[in-house]
Amino acid sequence: MMKRTFYALAVVCFMVGSVVNAQSKQPDWKAVEEETMEHFQAILRMNTSDPPGIEAPVVDYLKSVLQKEGIEVQTFALDPNRPNLVARLKGTGKKRPLLIMAHTDVVNVDSTKWTYPPFSATRKDGYVYGRGSVDDKDNVATGLMVMLLLKRSNAMLDRDVIFLAEAGEEGNVKYGIDYMVKNHWPAIEAEYCFAEGGGVPRTGGKIQYATVATTEKIPRGAKLVAKGISGHGSVPLQSNAVVHIAQAVAKVAAWQTPMRLNETTTAFFKRLAEISTPEETARFQALLNGKNADSAQEYLATKEPRYYSTLRTSISPTIIKGGYRSNVIPSEAEATLDIRALPDEDMPKFLDAMRQVINDPAVDIVSNSSSARPGSPPSKLNTEAFRAVEASVKRTYNTVTLPTMLTGATDMSYLRSKGVQCYGIGPMTDSEDGPKGFGAHSDQERILEEALHKFLRFQWDVVSSLAMQSSPE
Ligand SMILES: [Zn+2]
Repeated sequence: MMKRTFYALAVVCFMVGSVVNAQSKQPDWKAVEEETMEHFQAILRMNTSDPPGIEAPVVDYLKSVLQKEGIEVQTFALDPNRPNLVARLKGTGKKRPLLIMAHTDVVNVDSTKWTYPPFSATRKDGYVYGRGSVDDKDNVATGLMVMLLLKRSNAMLDRDVIFLAEAGEEGNVKYGIDYMVKNHWPAIEAEYCFAEGGGVPRTGGKIQYATVATTEKIPRGAKLVAKGISGHGSVPLQSNAVVHIAQAVAKVAAWQTPMRLNETTTAFFKRLAEISTPEETARFQALLNGKNADSAQEYLATKEPRYYSTLRTSISPTIIKGGYRSNVIPSEAEATLDIRALPDEDMPKFLDAMRQVINDPAVDIVSNSSSARPGSPPSKLNTEAFRAVEASVKRTYNTVTLPTMLTGATDMSYLRSKGVQCYGIGPMTDSEDGPKGFGAHSDQERILEEALHKFLRFQWDVVSSLAMQSSPE
């Protein structure tokens, strides 16, 4: 037994020594790739479907890997099954900390729909299949590896580097980021943070650009409630609540809410215009200078709904309810609106404008105050961190960086509201993959192995350029 343990130790030491070449500060990438894949598959195989979440096994795994290398780890839990992990590498304190963030939970699966079982982490033809492979266990694995590589490099750091693996991102933030920000802020307080939300889209095998999320829209759901007089269906009534709600929904859907660009979306369309076809360029310039913006918007509304959504606070009616039998006119009917607000939207003013559009005293707007994700200004583009990201994008992918506003919500909104400059990054994906059903949240979620490894190199490049001391003292 002793002999065996000694042998195992020797192997570990050999690996540690070979994985970071202290002189060049460049890791031995071949060995790193094997190690990354091992951790990635191990984490993918843990079922952290949320609800119920149960992220503890992933946290235990990360904790043991990090501690084995002498990295300081703390865990914080509102529910013992759903802990958050914080690891920290100490710097000199010359600069404020850098936070790397990744969520350990995944969305639920319908396992009958999967060709390869969702928690098998099957490797096939250069891909790894599994729930969480691009959302967000790729970031968990690369965040872990960046910490290990930094530690092994023995480099002096100008700032602390913190790794947060948080629970509950897929709909139960009270166990995760909300809990950490409200109760353990000093453990994760940072100047900059990196998390999911960006990516490097490839079309026909060719890299288009890299997106870096610098802001996101805020969910601000609301309900429309129509009230009328109930009665017998054989006698049509002007006050019929079903009719009033239907008219209100139609008006809201047809309403072109005001278009407004911010620093992020301005930069996005400007840079996109520089790499697009002449026809597309004209369209993006129309948005930027306001001339012929209407026809450009009309085009985007039908052909590029995602771009269109980034131009404004948007409304999607998603649920209509009313009535319970065919011969009864109900006294009430309601509609649910998924409203995604621009980060600086004045919601009371916006809802007032919507009330005027509906223009019907029988219809009330009830705003959903429980959707209280904080709004905050976009993260800045003129920071050391954004410049480092752009430079690493160029070095790693040889392409341009487009700052983007996400239409969906991420945990970064909590940090931005505390003044942290957050940048959403992500691996290379093929744009053909999504429509074929291989994207995030799909039944065949997968990642290219090559994309995972490249993403780690990119993250390592960004973090080391921001944290490592540029010249020895
Ligand atoms: Zn995610």
